[in-house]
Amino acid sequence: MVVTRFAPSPTGYLHLGHAYSALFAASKGARFLLRIEDIDPLRCKPEFTDAIIEDLGWLGLCWEQPVRKQAEHLADYAAALDILKGRGLVYPCFCTRREIILSAPHSDDAEVVYPGTCRHLTPDERADKMAQHRVANWRLDVAAALRETGALFWHDAVQGKLEAQPQIFGDVVLARKDVPTSYHLSVVVDDYLQGVGLVTRGVDLFTSTHVHRLLQALLGYNVSDYHHHELLNDKNGRRFAKRDQSVTLRALRAQGMTSDDIKRLLPE
Ligand code: GLU
Repeated sequence: MVVTRFAPSPTGYLHLGHAYSALFAASKGARFLLRIEDIDPLRCKPEFTDAIIEDLGWLGLCWEQPVRKQAEHLADYAAALDILKGRGLVYPCFCTRREIILSAPHSDDAEVVYPGTCRHLTPDERADKMAQHRVANWRLDVAAALRETGALFWHDAVQGKLEAQPQIFGDVVLARKDVPTSYHLSVVVDDYLQGVGLVTRGVDLFTSTHVHRLLQALLGYNVSDYHHHELLNDKNGRRFAKRDQSVTLRALRAQGMTSDDIKRLLPE
């Protein structure tokens, strides 16, 4: 029985793109889960979680209980990080965002690949900096990790068998200074703990799957299958975003639309 999930972050109201993603996930699974990805206390709000649950119910979706809320499970992510720490596969990084951007002047801000500065610190330098800063980002040493795992593959419903290329994204952050986990770590831990066999999500998250496949291998987890679906655009050809209040499900509902009307607006 294939388990799928819809895993929104409660940082705003759901829009048509989310409706498509949620209905897509539910249609692909024999069992369907809802997970609230609320690890970022600054951006996530309980009222958005309540609104997500209300909007998905209005759309006619049913999911298994309980709903997993990531903020309630930080110990699970810490345990996974400890395994990687114990094997020397993560290291503390003290660089500021500005330092990282300056070190890679030709990259565009959002896509800067970390140059690995703190990977090269000696144990003494690390201890000094730990004492000085007290908190650090924890980064995955991707090269060391790949030496342990060797080549890795995953099955993508659209593209077939693919080789994971996590090295393209550099040493990603697995736990942040301010949040003791990250999107990558918590998603991989949860999909494993919840038995999600088919991960469905938008193609905007396709590149993350390279990293997720590596984490699964390092942590000895089952390998999920993946189906990255297309993203919906508005009438101007732009992706729906949470800031577009006009296409939130609640705005459309307030205009008198029914859930069937919404479904008719979405691709098959
Ligand atoms: N929480 C992520 C988001 O709202 C989705 C995570 C996933 O499906 O892997 O974009």
